[in-house]
Amino acid sequence: MQLDSKSPTGPIEKRWEDHRFHLKLVNPANKRKYTILVVGTGLAGGSAAATLAELGYKVKCFCFQDSPRRAHSIAAQGGINAAKNYHNDGDSVYRLFYDTVKGGDFRSRESNVYRLAALSLNIIDQCVAQGVPFAREYSGYLDNRSFGGAQVSRTFYARGQTGQQLLLGAYQALERQIGAGAVEMFPRTEMLDLIVVDGKARGIVTRNLLTGKMESHMGDAVVLGTGGYGNVFYLSTNAKGCNATAIWRAHKRGALFANPCFTQIHPTCIPVSGDYQSKLTLMSESLRNDGRVWVPLKKGDKRTASQIPEAERDYFLERKYPSFGNLVPRDVASRNAKQVCDEGRGVGETGLAVYLDFRDAIQRLGKHVIKERYGNLFDMYQRITGEDPYQEPMRIYPAIHYTMGGLWVDYNLMSNIPGLYVIGEANFSDHGANRLGASALMQGLADGYFVLPNTIGDYLASNKFEKVAASHAAVREAESHVTAITRKLLEAKGTRSVDSYHRELGKIMWERCGMARNAAGLKQALAEIPPLREQFWRDVKVLGSGEELNQSLEKAGRVADFFELAELMCLDALERNESCGGHFREEYQTPEGEAARDDAHYSYAAAWEFRGAGQTPVLHKEPLTFEYVHPAQRSYK
Ligand SMILES: Cc1cc2nc3c(=O)[nH]c(=O)nc-3n(C[C@H](O)[C@H](O)[C@H](O)COP(=O)(O)OP(=O)(O)OC[C@H]3O[C@@H](n4cnc5c(N)ncnc54)[C@H](O)[C@@H]3O)c2cc1C
Repeated sequence: MQLDSKSPTGPIEKRWEDHRFHLKLVNPANKRKYTILVVGTGLAGGSAAATLAELGYKVKCFCFQDSPRRAHSIAAQGGINAAKNYHNDGDSVYRLFYDTVKGGDFRSRESNVYRLAALSLNIIDQCVAQGVPFAREYSGYLDNRSFGGAQVSRTFYARGQTGQQLLLGAYQALERQIGAGAVEMFPRTEMLDLIVVDGKARGIVTRNLLTGKMESHMGDAVVLGTGGYGNVFYLSTNAKGCNATAIWRAHKRGALFANPCFTQIHPTCIPVSGDYQSKLTLMSESLRNDGRVWVPLKKGDKRTASQIPEAERDYFLERKYPSFGNLVPRDVASRNAKQVCDEGRGVGETGLAVYLDFRDAIQRLGKHVIKERYGNLFDMYQRITGEDPYQEPMRIYPAIHYTMGGLWVDYNLMSNIPGLYVIGEANFSDHGANRLGASALMQGLADGYFVLPNTIGDYLASNKFEKVAASHAAVREAESHVTAITRKLLEAKGTRSVDSYHRELGKIMWERCGMARNAAGLKQALAEIPPLREQFWRDVKVLGSGEELNQSLEKAGRVADFFELAELMCLDALERNESCGGHFREEYQTPEGEAARDDAHYSYAAAWEFRGAGQTPVLHKEPLTFEYVHPAQRSYK
């Protein structure tokens, strides 16, 4: 299979404009003749559905929550990047582009990243016009703060609720179109399969989560904005409902899955407290603007933070990376936290935590300023841990947070299945091997508000679409496939809960394919996962029936997909014999313990083709070339 990224050539700042000019247009009067199915109502799906409807297309939109505005994007705390340079601190589109390519450890497409950086400007204007209440300075300008991997302040924020405010903006736009009859909304509806007719994506099979009713929806194109797959690890900062089912089932219908092993560990999360925990909580990266990360200099120092004098503290990020200090990118901060804990210098009962300390910032700025900046995050920390972070430093540890991998898409955001578009965290596109903080919201909104609405018209205008009847063999086949999976899960009537299997899978993944990986561990995971998956299918216990609200059944289907995806992640991690970004193979590190890339052999996006259950998938490679930001060992010193 030949992968065509459709990445334009020519001067990088002109590529998107030129490309757009050459895309075919759909006449405004013809747009209403096309139906587009949008799965997902987060920042990516919500913005896409609203914009496509505004353009005149007929849109059917789906989400599994009870309301589009409950999509996981609502949880995003810290902010959204844009190269507005309001602080006049040297920012520019080019610098955001540069930081993102470097931050992703040279494993992303330059054309995509430049477009993303350029569109960041439009996003802020769009959201301000919608009334998103970004924080402002006294002057009235929008305020900015800094996030990891950048030496400028370019992160726009709305306290610690940026995702919520941005999603309310997209949701309002979507609701307007629902009210106008241009979008038909299907909440509490889960996509369980993709319908491919004559090689093109033409529909989806869904289950109504309240009644269990299976239905097929047909359209001229399908857009997946279904989020990331971090919950394969069981414990993550993602909402419990986040899952990979939509993209995984599309993968099984032929869509290539790119860089599945590129997962992001976030350095600042509330540490795991026990075996029965089902979720981890993020403490936003924005806190590293004012919080200082440290551990005791001595191993096994059990004194409280306030008893440890300044001279006996190791501010290890500031010491090792004087230029970026506490604002090194996430992969670097996480690895260093793990390293000091592995040395026996971790704090708290388990020793698996480091301090994030606001003492100096409170002394310098006053408690009221810190409260204004991060009040809701401090409250959240206090409610969960029972400790007051204004008095004692927070204890934090890295946790699974984001997935850079996802379905492979070309520059138009179309997968290798014609008519199947993938946007937001669900695709693999812009972040390479490590996403910079505050860039996911930027990418989701760039995809949904600005890229997809331009590119999808070209596909629609270039193809003819026969109506697909409900009786079509491909529709029938997809429906019976979904029904068979549901029946199999219900009929297993085994002994163990879905969660117990998911927890066991997550543990394997965290230990063998988590923050650090090596060939022996990955091989072990590849030996452990298949028998556990088989046991799951034989022995899982799903109570209730398929004709009612049945959350155990929903979870079972998602965990079944996680099992298959987990195996692909380990295979991908094993195949990539280098370290890059969040993919840290212990065998490949520099003498200072940083990720050592192997550009000669691995400068490509790995796009995997599904070849059937139990069969080895086939690897296709999209070579990556760098004309502007030349690959070098990343340095934040
Ligand atoms: C705690 C936390 C804080 C974060 N903070 C930031 C931040 O400050 N800045 C930043 O840039 N990024 C942040 N991120 C990352 C960012 O929030 C996500 O990457 C982004 O919101 C994903 O948006 P999305 O639209 O792609 O997917 P989501 O918001 O996850 O939406 C997915 C949608 O798809 C639907 N869906 C999924 N599967 C199906 C299915 N099978 N059938 C039907 N519907 C389906 C869901 O119902 C939902 O509507 C944070 C992430 C976390 C976990």
